[in-house]
Amino acid sequence: MNKKTIWIVIVLSLILSIIVAVSAPLSQGVTSRKQAQIAAVDDTWRASLPRDPMAATEAYMARISPEAKTRSDAYFEGKYWLQLIDLFVSIAAAVIVLRSKVLARVRDRLSKKWRFQWMIDSVTAMVCTFVMSVITLPLTVYEGFYREHLYGLSNMQALDWFKENMLMVCISTVSIGISIGMIYIALRLTRRHWWLWGAGISISLLGVFMFLAPNYIDPLFNTYQPITDVRIKDPVLAMMRANGVPVNNVYQFDASKQTDRASANVSGIFGSAAVRMNDNLLQRSSVSEIKAVLGHELGHYVMNHVYKIWMEIGIVLVLGFAFVKRLLEWSLDKWGFSLGLRSYADIAALPLLSIWFSVFMFISTPISNTLIRTQETEADIFGINASAEPLGFAEEMLKLTAYRKSDPGDVEEWLFFDHPSPRKRIYSAMRWRAEQLKP
Ligand SMILES: [Zn+2]
Repeated sequence: MNKKTIWIVIVLSLILSIIVAVSAPLSQGVTSRKQAQIAAVDDTWRASLPRDPMAATEAYMARISPEAKTRSDAYFEGKYWLQLIDLFVSIAAAVIVLRSKVLARVRDRLSKKWRFQWMIDSVTAMVCTFVMSVITLPLTVYEGFYREHLYGLSNMQALDWFKENMLMVCISTVSIGISIGMIYIALRLTRRHWWLWGAGISISLLGVFMFLAPNYIDPLFNTYQPITDVRIKDPVLAMMRANGVPVNNVYQFDASKQTDRASANVSGIFGSAAVRMNDNLLQRSSVSEIKAVLGHELGHYVMNHVYKIWMEIGIVLVLGFAFVKRLLEWSLDKWGFSLGLRSYADIAALPLLSIWFSVFMFISTPISNTLIRTQETEADIFGINASAEPLGFAEEMLKLTAYRKSDPGDVEEWLFFDHPSPRKRIYSAMRWRAEQLKP
């Protein structure tokens, strides 16, 4: 592969990205949003809801129109294949970067100028991250923009989407670059156990990002404002206090500029806590629905889920580094010399490391999904006990079927779902209602 090839690939990727973006069916998003996804109901319907959990669940499920079900099933199932396509495209991008030897050239050029290996590694890693992001950009545009519009889930114009995506690429390029630089210090200094050190540093950095993101990264994309409406604020704060979370403000953020999805979170470290909900949730939900959602988020906070998932993902990362170590050393023996790579600690071999890491992450998806899904089930149980709003909870779960398959099989759920299926969540709320509420 000659020197110019990488530039040709980059230019072609950018052109293809623009073609995908401008051909996105923007208007369809608008019409599909106007189509009723779920039949609206009133208090009479809720009052006549059977007490039997199964029959009540069926009554909720029957409100999803067949067209809406077909649409959201197709949207969700398409993602199963996209995971595989993502893997192949990221491998292809890594192979192109490796064969172009662009990183080896960057490494050699920087080595002449700088003494600090850490700086050379970090900047080379930044080049690698940026180039790979550009090569995979057409697929990112398809998944994040075209497809979201196709299914009527995005509210963004192409230019705004590109601006946001570029900001995200810049943040990840710099943060991944610096992180990789630190991981490679360990790779160079330690020999047989470099993978353990690599895992340890990765886990520490993951923690930093997990805890910093809500306060320092999220505000770069959205504006947060205190909610002053006491009809919402007061019952939410009362529920928080009743569960030992002493907050005095509830915030909303303008997610509707990006998406149609509702979301919320309760987050904070070292005993601090903040309650945030997006404007989609606020505008389209009753107070009992908002309480049900925030009860779930409160569950994540009170049960220290963020710390637990950090440790659990940490164990997965250790296994990942063990896997990567074996395959990286094997592939370096095979192709290292012809690709101009010196050792596993050579930053120019980063794309090779990223290939094996992507393969591992793909294989371990059902494990990480199950770890997250288990926490989500716990938060559901906590939330319904805290809010005592089974009807509000079921209503919100029904709304999720706009973009989540409503009723998957058990194996399908285990493999692909990072939340329990909407049907199971509605059933658990209806069971709680039947057993905990007086008729
Ligand atoms: Zn959750």
